[in-house]
Amino acid sequence: MRAVRYHGPGRALSLETMTIRSPKSGESLVRVKAAGICHTDLHFLSGVLNLGISPLTLGHEIAGEVAGVGEGVTGVKVGDRVLVFYYATCGHCHWCRTDRANLCPQVVAEYGFTADGGYAEYILVPAKNLVRLPAGMDLAEAATLGCSVTTAIHAAGTIAGVRLGETVVIYGSGGVGFGLIQYCKLAGARVIAVSRSAARRAKAVALGADVVLDGVTPVAEEVRARTHGEGADVVFELAGVNATMGQAMNALRRRGRLVFVGYSADHLTVSPLQLVIGEFAVTASVGNTFEELIQAVDLAASGKIRPVIDRRVSLEELPAALDSLRRGEIVGRAVVVFP
Ligand SMILES: [Zn+2]
Ligand SMILES: [Zn+2]
Repeated sequence: MRAVRYHGPGRALSLETMTIRSPKSGESLVRVKAAGICHTDLHFLSGVLNLGISPLTLGHEIAGEVAGVGEGVTGVKVGDRVLVFYYATCGHCHWCRTDRANLCPQVVAEYGFTADGGYAEYILVPAKNLVRLPAGMDLAEAATLGCSVTTAIHAAGTIAGVRLGETVVIYGSGGVGFGLIQYCKLAGARVIAVSRSAARRAKAVALGADVVLDGVTPVAEEVRARTHGEGADVVFELAGVNATMGQAMNALRRRGRLVFVGYSADHLTVSPLQLVIGEFAVTASVGNTFEELIQAVDLAASGKIRPVIDRRVSLEELPAALDSLRRGEIVGRAVVVFP
């Protein structure tokens, strides 16, 4: 099969031919039909995220068709259209047993992070990691649910607990940002979205954002001007760079929650006095749970959340699409699709 392989930070991706074994007991072989391109892949290429594993096939937003099943598999059969939950966790630690498997300290595999992911014609995963997709759901759209939309559900629902009537700032408008806009609107919040890109601001409005900011005038000032000087109940930090973190802190209302989803090599600097005076909470959100992935599929199937696809590219075009993502040209997700 063909696969695009990662060989460590600073090295170019390469299109290679690989062999794939047949599924073992409990496993399923999935013929990949679509794989979303996440900003995290750029962190692998730059080395901001370096798990020390290469060569590796990246790609963790994976949808396809079951092409084979190992012994003992009952939940899925050949031909089923499926979405992959990218965490294979231990299943018996405290975190796994309390439906917080995204925090499992003994992760067996994370497809596209520590084990071969979706930028390949086939992938092997535990059959229990597959979610069957409703008939008629576009597989490229389904793929983007696997990280961008579920990450948004985890951050807004589970971590921030966004409530009716709250004002939230979504600081950054990539795939997760678009998911957050839609989820926070469904939760009854007032949404202020920030993006430097006019095209992304237009999309944010189309998805329901109440206010869009271009980030040129200091964001904290703009948010206060629109909240009677109060600030926002929740700020989602999707960039995590020096230019945004201070603004994000200063945009918070008292008792406000700052939620990190994005990160960079920069460090957050905050005075404990500032935290104490405002009773601010600084928290963070990583990945998602299986339950949240099912929720994402349900929300997309009912049309309540719309995946945003910028372009569909071939496996050969993946490196160029990553360059476009790095340059900020992608509105939503670019998705690798397979014939
Ligand atoms: Zn991702
Ligand atoms: Zn575990």
